[in-house]
Amino acid sequence: MDFKFTEEQDFFRTQVKDAVDRMIRPRIQEIDEADEFPRDLWKQFSELGYLGLRHPETYGGLDLDVITSMIFYEELARGSCGFAMAVTMQILMGTYFIGRFGTEEIKQRVLVPAIKGEKIGTICFTEDQSGSDLAGTRTTAVKKDGGWVINGRKMWITNGPVCDFCTVLATIDPSKGLEGLSFFLVEKGTKGFSTGQTIHKLGSHGSATGELIFDNVWVPDENLLGEGPGNGVKYTIEILNEVRVMTGLMACAIADEAMKDARKYALERVAFGKPIAKYQLIRAKFANHWAWYEAARLFSYKAAWMIHEGMQCQHECMLAKMFATEMCLSAVDEATRIYGGNSFAMEYPPQRYFRDARFLLFGGGCHEVLQNALGAAYLRKGG
Ligand SMILES: Cc1cc2nc3c(=O)[nH]c(=O)nc-3n(C[C@H](O)[C@H](O)[C@H](O)COP(=O)(O)OP(=O)(O)OC[C@H]3O[C@@H](n4cnc5c(N)ncnc54)[C@H](O)[C@@H]3O)c2cc1C
Repeated sequence: MDFKFTEEQDFFRTQVKDAVDRMIRPRIQEIDEADEFPRDLWKQFSELGYLGLRHPETYGGLDLDVITSMIFYEELARGSCGFAMAVTMQILMGTYFIGRFGTEEIKQRVLVPAIKGEKIGTICFTEDQSGSDLAGTRTTAVKKDGGWVINGRKMWITNGPVCDFCTVLATIDPSKGLEGLSFFLVEKGTKGFSTGQTIHKLGSHGSATGELIFDNVWVPDENLLGEGPGNGVKYTIEILNEVRVMTGLMACAIADEAMKDARKYALERVAFGKPIAKYQLIRAKFANHWAWYEAARLFSYKAAWMIHEGMQCQHECMLAKMFATEMCLSAVDEATRIYGGNSFAMEYPPQRYFRDARFLLFGGGCHEVLQNALGAAYLRKGG
């Protein structure tokens, strides 16, 4: 066994950490308070080339492996959580299907500028009436004139209000349920495509989230992304492993930052004549968190390693995401307890971690839904 990162991976981590420390961390509070997508930071950060983390060098990407990409997501989440959501959306889900299935012409027109940060992308699954249950997708795509006509509305779309293109999940045959779903590329400026309401979120400020509207949007055949209609769910399952491990490592980073702030506070805050860090009940919070954090991080990187090795690991990725997120929610809660009444003041950081961490519950699958699937899988296990 080998639990070490390679020298290249360690070096890559220090580079990403340096960029996050320099460009993003000094602006965390400003981004949180403004609750607006920071276009200037996006432009500055794009110039570092990380938006092409997983894409081939021929398109301007870095072509890095899964484990190295997870190091990137982990370090990025130590900055603004909302900005990290916008960036990870672009890198992973926003451009994934275009990189994999787009024609050469589509890649030159959409992927190359997306890697440079000149175009912003997103992915659209969720609708007003369906989130976890993709079979409930009501957005339709109907064959017409050498292309497809898309009708529907998508909700809760990260980068939606600022996007230049999106990959939208639509049903080509509602009678087939999950089997009828496919992904289509829709670009800004296409007739009938528009943005709807912007959602004002509890946390993760800095990523723009909202509704996208498709009103008789015609796209040519080559905008159907994937080998033939009806493969949307198969492709979703393939990308979800990476999304889940990414979410797990973002959870680890948020928990770590919250508890590091709490440690500093506990060492300085005096109650009953001594720093609160001297009290056993406060120490227990740090001890418990330390154990759970290490376990969650180890499990998340193990799942990343399994993806890298091409192993069957759908359940491990779900478990890692669920465990790391629950660990994080507990850590941000413990951090607020350590800060006492000050945790309720907007001037102190715990409230931000507390608000930001909630999004982890939903991306990559709600925990009740994961528990359903994992419980059933455990019951089927032999041995
Ligand atoms: C900040 C943020 C950003 C997002 N960005 C995007 C994006 O970019 N693109 C996109 O497509 N979507 C996005 N989403 C939406 C997200 O993917 C959905 O919120 C998620 O899929 C859950 O769907 P839902 O909210 O409709 O909840 P529902 O599916 O309605 O679930 C509600 C509750 O019921 C539970 N539940 C559902 N089914 C079952 C079951 N079978 N058994 C037990 N319990 C069940 C759930 O666990 C949950 O507790 C975003 C959401 C947030 C909060």
